[in-house]
Amino acid sequence: MAEPDNKPSNFIRHIIDGDLKSGKYAARRWSGKPGPAEQQKVPEGTHSAGAGTAVDGAKIRTRFPPEPNGYLHFGHAKSICLNFGLALDYQGACHLRFDDTNPEKEEQEYVDAIIDAVHWLGFEWRFGDEINQYLASDYFEWMYQFAEKLIEAGHAYVDSQTADEMRASRGTLTAGGRNSPYRERMPAENLALFRAMRGGEFADGTHVLRAKIAMDSPNINLRDPAIYRIRHATHHNTGDTWCIYPMYTYAHPIEDALENITHSICTLEFEDQRPFYDWLLARLAELGCVNTPLPQQIEFARLNLSYVVLSKRKLIQLVDEKHVDGWDDPRLPTLVGARRRGFTAEGFRAFSEMIGVTKSDSWIDISVLEECQREHLNETAPRRIAVLDPVKLVIDNYPEGQEEECLAPNHPQKPEWGKRPVPFSKELWIEREDFMEAPSKGYFRLFPGNRVRLRYGFVVECTGADRDDAGNITAVHCNYFADSKSGTPGSDAYKVKGNIHWVSARHACAAEIRLYDRLFSVEAPGSGDRDFIADLNPTSKRVVAAQLEAALKDAAAEERFQFERHGYFVADRVDSRPGAPVFNRAVTLKDSWSKGK
Ligand code: ATP
Ligand code: MG
Repeated sequence: MAEPDNKPSNFIRHIIDGDLKSGKYAARRWSGKPGPAEQQKVPEGTHSAGAGTAVDGAKIRTRFPPEPNGYLHFGHAKSICLNFGLALDYQGACHLRFDDTNPEKEEQEYVDAIIDAVHWLGFEWRFGDEINQYLASDYFEWMYQFAEKLIEAGHAYVDSQTADEMRASRGTLTAGGRNSPYRERMPAENLALFRAMRGGEFADGTHVLRAKIAMDSPNINLRDPAIYRIRHATHHNTGDTWCIYPMYTYAHPIEDALENITHSICTLEFEDQRPFYDWLLARLAELGCVNTPLPQQIEFARLNLSYVVLSKRKLIQLVDEKHVDGWDDPRLPTLVGARRRGFTAEGFRAFSEMIGVTKSDSWIDISVLEECQREHLNETAPRRIAVLDPVKLVIDNYPEGQEEECLAPNHPQKPEWGKRPVPFSKELWIEREDFMEAPSKGYFRLFPGNRVRLRYGFVVECTGADRDDAGNITAVHCNYFADSKSGTPGSDAYKVKGNIHWVSARHACAAEIRLYDRLFSVEAPGSGDRDFIADLNPTSKRVVAAQLEAALKDAAAEERFQFERHGYFVADRVDSRPGAPVFNRAVTLKDSWSKGK
């Protein structure tokens, strides 16, 4: 099959292209839902998604398998875009599978948040009439049955050593391990013990089931890895049905095989696990347990991003110790945080395409993600006017009570988006920093005697400012030139260097604006011996009052705009209300962190 159009190729696509060309998975049967070999070997002509025969209608199957023990972060976005993106490109299916085999850590709250986040990124798991959303814990019975088969075939045994004894006999990177004294137990004894383990007859940690491979293997992962452990714990899905739980390394390959996954894409740290993945599935295929051809594990380099932390443990610490305002804090690299910040799904998908997939670890600068967001926002966000940290500008020679309209373009590069009227009157709001009593060198905005253009409006000449008793400026004064209105004949006869934005005080709407910046002030938080908490950026969040043009008053939650001169903003999906808007800054107009900040 030819490479899908316009997509840069990568080593994973090469593998898929090769498999499609050789027809490796072409004749693979599929019953329409996950199950063991027996269930998938449906006869010709019976149900299958899409094809109407028993052959799997999906050309490839990938999966995104989060453990529901936390919120998804930017690293997960890379994996989601990769797995769901490949399925879309190759007429395949991508499954959303909750890897919930560990009874202690999972919660429904995380399951719901993960579903939301994947949807938000723009992906779904429907393929034909299949809804490919699964819980690994629904496969516990099959996993158990397969373990019995392995025991009967002499491929697994119950080990009754203590955890310390097992650790001591595992060997090291350079020296092989020692056989357990229980390694030669007969299958019948192992089976009886394993059934008693399931039956709840033993305490936690007294026995484990181990694969019987080779204690002298150079790969530690093949030295008779544990595949089941006793854990008397209530599981969010299976309740108290089980008191033994499969180890991740045993469960994951089986989940893939039960779901007919073709390409099981994971991060590099699982490379050493691949021999066990292959060993286990080969044994289970010989025993007739799982469908063939078998899924293949492919590893890629995880996303490492500068200026953030992507480890769940560290994210939890930031939330628990209240360094941020919860999981959806716009500064956190979680997908709920990014959404609240005003980042877009399109920006994430473009970022994921841009960084590609590789086999070796590298760091991506956060500015690459910010630039992808900025590009999409630039294309899609209408322009609006917001005056941050406002001060009054009084036009002394403008008639009291008069008002008129100025026209502001909704997007300077998209004339088809039209212009909107913005009211002009005697009292305006301007930014406090657009006035200086004694201007510094190169300052072209308002100071006594200087002229500026009020963008889309008139040219004014500053005459001075009022101060309160404490010396704070309470209003700036100016006179306007009635024949200087933008867009009227002769208006460009006025040559001025400064151009400032404004809103009419009578028409404006007060708002809260949250200016977010990077959460950490260094590229690699916590590198060396430093505590990563010490690297937090103390000014990562600033809240300022603002006056907005009236058109922003009733902005809908999650509506995004460019505020001229300030950047891209989104109406906060939690706190913004019609008539009382709250806006978050997603990104500035330009990268202010690049060299020379
Ligand atoms: P933890 O942070 O606790 O190690 P995890 O990030 O591995 O957990 P999972 O829920 O197991 O969390 O991850 C789901 C999927 O997301 C896995 O397939 C994993 O490979 C992928 N993934 C996680 N982090 C990254 C990352 N930084 N870059 C790319 N993929 C990632
Ligand atoms: Mg993990």
